[in-house]
Amino acid sequence: MRVKIDGNRCQGHNRCVAVAPEIFEPDDEGLALLKQDPIVPGQENPARRAALSCPERAITVIEED
Ligand code: SF4
Repeated sequence: MRVKIDGNRCQGHNRCVAVAPEIFEPDDEGLALLKQDPIVPGQENPARRAALSCPERAITVIEED
């Protein structure tokens, strides 16, 4: 699984960081950065929950083998 953050949409709410701090972290301006790429096996559900939590729909989950 991979996750993409659309930097044009991200507004820095950091809900993704709150939901999945093992996957997301804020940059110096509070916008989301990925800590894992690809997503570490076993972290798929937190990644999906973070994507659903983003009010800007800035997180895309790419399901792959
Ligand atoms: S929840 Fe969405 S808008 Fe907020 S920091 Fe995360 S990716 Fe950006």
